[in-house]
Amino acid sequence: MAEKVVIIGSGPAGFSAAIYAARASLEPLLFEGTVKPEMIPLGQLAYTTEVENFAGFPAGNIREFVESAVDAERHYNLPPAPAGHERDGRPHYAVQGVELMELMKQQALNFGTRIVGEDIVDVDFTNRPFQLTSSGGQTVAAETVIVATGARANYLGLESEEAFKNRGVSACAVCDGALPRFRNKPLVVVGGGDSAIEEATYLTKFASQVMLVHRRDELRASKIMQQRAFDDPKLEILWNTVVDEVVGDDSQGVTGVRLNSTVDQPSREVEAAGMFLAIGHTPNTEFLKGKLEMNDKGYLRWTEAFRTKTSVAGVFAAGDVADDYYRQAITSAGTGCMAALDAERYLAEHGK
Ligand SMILES: Cc1cc2nc3c(=O)[nH]c(=O)nc-3n(C[C@H](O)[C@H](O)[C@H](O)COP(=O)(O)OP(=O)(O)OC[C@H]3O[C@@H](n4cnc5c(N)ncnc54)[C@H](O)[C@@H]3O)c2cc1C
Repeated sequence: MAEKVVIIGSGPAGFSAAIYAARASLEPLLFEGTVKPEMIPLGQLAYTTEVENFAGFPAGNIREFVESAVDAERHYNLPPAPAGHERDGRPHYAVQGVELMELMKQQALNFGTRIVGEDIVDVDFTNRPFQLTSSGGQTVAAETVIVATGARANYLGLESEEAFKNRGVSACAVCDGALPRFRNKPLVVVGGGDSAIEEATYLTKFASQVMLVHRRDELRASKIMQQRAFDDPKLEILWNTVVDEVVGDDSQGVTGVRLNSTVDQPSREVEAAGMFLAIGHTPNTEFLKGKLEMNDKGYLRWTEAFRTKTSVAGVFAAGDVADDYYRQAITSAGTGCMAALDAERYLAEHGK
């Protein structure tokens, strides 16, 4: 018998869709994906530490926040900051990315979502019910599908970068920044958007110095993030510069990067124990090529405004896989909810 709803992906979009679909008694089956170099179950938030902007999870002195927001007799649900978490001598706690995702996963499980630790590697949307094939070789029939596969980090594509991956080249400061090889050493971050600044400022906790390599003479990052970069004494921005080669050897891994100027300066080598990439993402849609309409960057296309419908009726898309603009956990969760409601309505309309 065909599944009513199959959800592909395990980020905020996938789990929010699962929570809504499960509460609507649609018994969703969710494929959470496998561990790959630039992609892990629980989605992109699993690569980060503190999440300060997911509504309902205030960061800071949570007890003080609660007392200012909620009457004393209604404090039952809201804990004080955990012991040992302080910033500037005051209690401080923010939900961690993995913690937030584990909570979403548990919430989906509590309502009866079934989770499979495999990828979906192929789909047939030409017949109904749809047929999905997993990396473990199982074939699943589905009345509706919600694609919530997100996006993954981009690399420069240099041979030397490939050679030094996991030996000094990383696309995740939060995952790798605290490794001994990077401690008290100069590091390079490539990029100029919000995530580049987030990664660079995070790395200043461990590095002796962080150089942000940026190809232009101004940052794409938001004003508040730019200010954070300018105010950080350990962060230097190398304007009009691109990485030409990652330099290193077998015993030490990365020892530096050779930089080219995008204006007239001569190329030069700077010492660095690591190079962190923060140059955008690629949507995880390879297995959907030719099956669903996409934009020129490979993001799935919604075919109706304010609906999560794709080019195939009964297939819905949620989260970053269909959003190259907002790319936030909360927007992904929102469209995950929308996709579940859209799937529920589709099933009702088709007598399922
Ligand atoms: C370092 C970093 C920090 C961030 N910090 C914040 C923040 O503070 N606040 C915020 O709002 N946003 C933040 N973001 C952005 C946020 O993480 C994303 O917008 C959000 O996770 C997107 O959710 P999603 O559900 O669409 O997809 P993702 O989170 O990308 O999850 C999709 C998951 O689906 C799975 N998958 C992929 N392909 C398949 C397949 N074929 N079969 C099965 N499973 C598959 C993978 O496990 C993948 O990880 C951050 C991102 C990064 C990288």
